[in-house]
Amino acid sequence: MRILLVEDDHMLGAATREALRDATHAVDWVLDGASALSAAQGGEYEVVLLDLGLPKRDGLSVLQALRQAGSTLPVLILTARDAVEDRIRGLDLGADDYLVKPFESGELLARIRAVARRRGGQAQPVLSNGVLELDPVTREVRFQGQTQRLTAREYALLHALLLRPGAILSRSELEDRIYGWNEEVESNAVEFLIHSLRKKLAPEVIKNVRGVGWMAPRETAPGAGHRP
Ligand code: CA
Repeated sequence: MRILLVEDDHMLGAATREALRDATHAVDWVLDGASALSAAQGGEYEVVLLDLGLPKRDGLSVLQALRQAGSTLPVLILTARDAVEDRIRGLDLGADDYLVKPFESGELLARIRAVARRRGGQAQPVLSNGVLELDPVTREVRFQGQTQRLTAREYALLHALLLRPGAILSRSELEDRIYGWNEEVESNAVEFLIHSLRKKLAPEVIKNVRGVGWMAPRETAPGAGHRP
């Protein structure tokens, strides 16, 4: 998924970005509060990781401005162990969760999955559209009783589609989900990934809407449809 990392400590920021990339996330990293606010308002992120002590504008003020502008973007604040007041204030200002520094990358990734899940309106850890089941922990997809392993980018693309089954995502929206700012986008990357996903699963699992984009249709089990 696409994550905005806001951290002015170079070592911690670099290590966090590395851990997120290893886990196949696309990461944009900014080092001050003013850049954080404009990035968060302009970009399509699933989660923001927000340090509080920042140059130009502190993290709590960034969070407050985002929420006042009506943003529902999930925000996970990164705080020091002794900063209880900041955590309380952050949660009251609309943060979704917090992490105490220094944190283990395993816990960071689990909390990111949890806030992204809540945003997608899915309480289950496994994302599903009724046909495909994608497990964010193992990064495996189940289809017709078979489990398939996905490459990092196949996973990122399918994850984006399954967060909102039935929603059409354009090429650039999909590229945003699978690449960070500093990564060069390969031409036809989206088509290539969709081709290999269809080959591993079935052609109909990802539908192309000509000239608009792609979607994973929301499927309902036979007999489970709505009744008037
Ligand atoms: Ca800081």
